[in-house]
Amino acid sequence: MISVAPARDLSGPIDSHCHLQSLPPDERERALDDARERGVRGFLVPAIRLAEADEILALCHRHPDVWCALGVHPHDAASWQPGDRERLRSLLADPKAVAVGECGLDFYYDHAPREAQFRALREQWELAVELDLPVVVHNRDSNEEMLGVVREEAFRDLRADFHSFAGGRAMAEELLAHGFSLGLSGMITFPKADNVREVIPILPADRCLVETDTPYLAPIPYRGKPNRPAYVVEIARRLAEETGESYAEVCRRTGEGFFRLFRKAAE
Ligand SMILES: [Zn+2]
Repeated sequence: MISVAPARDLSGPIDSHCHLQSLPPDERERALDDARERGVRGFLVPAIRLAEADEILALCHRHPDVWCALGVHPHDAASWQPGDRERLRSLLADPKAVAVGECGLDFYYDHAPREAQFRALREQWELAVELDLPVVVHNRDSNEEMLGVVREEAFRDLRADFHSFAGGRAMAEELLAHGFSLGLSGMITFPKADNVREVIPILPADRCLVETDTPYLAPIPYRGKPNRPAYVVEIARRLAEETGESYAEVCRRTGEGFFRLFRKAAE
């Protein structure tokens, strides 16, 4: 039997990384409405810690166009406990939880001991492989260590979005060779960010996502202000300028890439 995925409106971009839970509760609905008015067609909300999961899931269940990733950010890795793998497994059974994350390494801030960061990362990735869910990855000042984990045999079948990618061309090439997707944030609009834009020409059409990373990293012309999902429009526009495609084409193919990686969102 052939199963046909529901037709999706990809006429506007999808914000593949927005921390709506970090906005005051009374601003979340407005931020979504503002974004929809500007044509934004979907939202992925990544958790920072497991304690947020119920609140994030409730938000997702109120909105057909909002999905989430559930997991523990490297800043919070010291909170990862022996029972958390099972707790996360049961949370991920929710149809709105389409990925594990955000998880990763951050040796810039080092908010958690590195040993704890590695432990939380590996346990979450193992669970993702077991459940055949993609991971949303945060990586800062830890390229070599991250590639070391990526190369481990246990993660051969991992599917991943390296969000707000700023790791440079060599790192991008290796991640793309593993079949991963890279997320482009407002950094691609910053005048001095040639080192971020340099990966754009090597990104396969369907493995390039756009994201705001709300409430951080607002794109030009909103730089320095709190970021909002509506501004993903600016990022898709800039991407279109860089590649010479139309805005509509960028929205269509990054949207297809989104549903290809985050399969559960297409069900
Ligand atoms: Zn994030």
